[in-house]
Amino acid sequence: MTSKANTVAFQAGERNIFFHILTACNLSCRHCYINTSQHGTTTLPKETMLKWLQLFADPNKKSNVIFLGGEPTMHPDLADGIAKAKELGMAVTVDSNGYLFNNLLEKTSPDLLDYLSFSLDGPDPSVNDPIRGEGVFEVCTTNMGKAVAAGYNVSVIYTVSNLNIEHLHRMIPLLQDIGVKRFFIQVIGLRGNSAKTNAGEQGWQVSPEQWLDVVPRVANQAAEAGIHVTFPKVFLDPNEKFECAGLVTENFFIFPNGRVYRCPLCEDHPIHALEIKNETLVPNQNMKLTEDNFFQLNIEEGCVMNRLLQPDTISYDAQGKPLHRISCCLLKQEILPV
Ligand code: SF4
Ligand code: SF4
Repeated sequence: MTSKANTVAFQAGERNIFFHILTACNLSCRHCYINTSQHGTTTLPKETMLKWLQLFADPNKKSNVIFLGGEPTMHPDLADGIAKAKELGMAVTVDSNGYLFNNLLEKTSPDLLDYLSFSLDGPDPSVNDPIRGEGVFEVCTTNMGKAVAAGYNVSVIYTVSNLNIEHLHRMIPLLQDIGVKRFFIQVIGLRGNSAKTNAGEQGWQVSPEQWLDVVPRVANQAAEAGIHVTFPKVFLDPNEKFECAGLVTENFFIFPNGRVYRCPLCEDHPIHALEIKNETLVPNQNMKLTEDNFFQLNIEEGCVMNRLLQPDTISYDAQGKPLHRISCCLLKQEILPV
């Protein structure tokens, strides 16, 4: 049976708050997108973390907060952040590298944490560990099992690159064995380390043909195996409308140095639209041009930041017309479990 992937339309009136509460991490993944020269090295003090959460709370909007790092479980007060976010009416997710420091499973509870997400980039140590570090597969999968046993909803994020695309299908039996409910397939972005290092001769990024050949097919297979799958749209169909999330939704990517971006592709540059100063969210006055000026530009290639920062991802025909329009990187497709 084949299920249909639905594009998840941007929801006006919904807020997604991607909250980096620190930039420190125990791992050094080859594609890490954290860039301390842009995002600093601060670990937010507990009181600041709680006040900043309050800044983004709006009781009239459905809000989702995703706690990120670095490794967010290295923050000693993460459990307090989760409890505060829940008190503010937000749906709460933590994205962890799997190490679950500070006894997170005991310090919070499945009633407060809607999803505990683990990053895993391969179905076995031979694929995952060269990307994320030696021994990481074992620790991550063991802790996923413990989280499932403790009653948490567990999801997995797999960042697809040339190093692991051919192994994507082998994730399905692993996720089934562990009891994972949601599978997020991501496309690698050229930010942080992946913009500075290469992945060998073939480079990090997969071709449009490879992506379109592999990802929708594996996503279908995972849904048939009872897993809820989400993956980025990446290439718009000819008749599909292009929309920039920066113009139509409320996404905030908050860093511990106070920068607040509306678009994740911009995070390597000081062009954030907003910043937190003296516990207040204000426009970034330091730059004449910020990311929100770029969102307005209407180009044939689709996403303007992709065109500016990752032009190699676009191919053109003999007349100079782009072969594919690139969707907003925040536009997702999902397939519900069959
Ligand atoms: S776990 Fe995340 S923050 Fe840590 S090194 Fe890997 S990608 Fe970077
Ligand atoms: S990824 Fe592109 S389309 Fe999406 S918010 Fe950024 S600039 Fe807009």
